[in-house]
Amino acid sequence: MNDLDVRYFDGCSSKPHAARLCVQDDALTVTPMPGETFPPLTVSLAQVRWPERTRHGGRIAHLPQGASVQALDTSAWDAWVAQLGRGESWVVRAQQSWRGVAVAFVLLVGAIAAMYQWGLPWVARGVTAMVPQRVDALIGEQVLESLDQSLLQPSALAPAEQERIRKSFTRMVQTAHAVDAPAWTLEFRRSREQGRQLGPNALALPGGTIVLTDELVALMPGNDDAVLGVLAHEFGHVRQRHAMRQLVQVSAIGFAASVAVGDYGTLISSAPVVLASLGYSRDTEREADAESLRLMRAAGIPPRAMVAFFEAIEHWRDTAQRGTRSGDDAIGLAFSSHPAATERIAYFRDAPED
Ligand SMILES: [Zn+2]
Repeated sequence: MNDLDVRYFDGCSSKPHAARLCVQDDALTVTPMPGETFPPLTVSLAQVRWPERTRHGGRIAHLPQGASVQALDTSAWDAWVAQLGRGESWVVRAQQSWRGVAVAFVLLVGAIAAMYQWGLPWVARGVTAMVPQRVDALIGEQVLESLDQSLLQPSALAPAEQERIRKSFTRMVQTAHAVDAPAWTLEFRRSREQGRQLGPNALALPGGTIVLTDELVALMPGNDDAVLGVLAHEFGHVRQRHAMRQLVQVSAIGFAASVAVGDYGTLISSAPVVLASLGYSRDTEREADAESLRLMRAAGIPPRAMVAFFEAIEHWRDTAQRGTRSGDDAIGLAFSSHPAATERIAYFRDAPED
């Protein structure tokens, strides 16, 4: 095997020395070139740390005691090292090939997808717990304001009617959660008739504001049971801070940064737009339905009331809504955006009365 001319550093000074490498058996010898005064050095090949080869850049091999040798000519070095029979690690080979890069990319995308699927909801729960409640309230105000400017108008329900519903719902919450109820408020609104319509709907905003539309109250006249069931479902979203969790989940990095610096300004101002594009996951809906059932039982309302309601909503979709554009797609978090999954109907239909 030929010798290789290199630059040698002895590990004590930064002065380069001209040297020649030769390999015999399992030993590497660094010999001074004429004019150099350092003593020849022999080390076991096993003690040499070879560099990972990159397409560009120099080649340095590290020897014991901080000494090193540097390539003068990288292609000569590569050829010489190849003769040593030193196989490159699969990492290096993979980095060198486009196929390797493509495989790494696919694996990375898979890992991120898995993180979104299983990791992120869990992370979002943790991050949400670190966000102060006043941030929820500020975001809720912003969202209600933007809804009032777009899809909603003041309620036309008689004050007595509003009062009746509010009282029944208050009693319901107090019975089920005598001590651990989160703060909530109930807002009555009417869906705007022009353009997109929210129709019979309810919506829980961050901070505990529950919006109920007149259309939902009118859907089953003279029967508050389903209205209370829907409000109880929205209360489930409030209790679990679901809207905030969804928000944290889509803007995880932004929220992590906000938690770190304690500044939520940007997130609060962008929240209405972001929230408008979100929907609840099936798990989230299941949690809210479970809460609904708990509250309905506490109030002595049969769970079946919800089944009748789901049917009425479907009927409304099929008839009244024909020819108008639905506002549901503008608010994925609204109740009627995801009403009639067979699984949910069965949940209330098959629930024991107490
Ligand atoms: Zn829901």
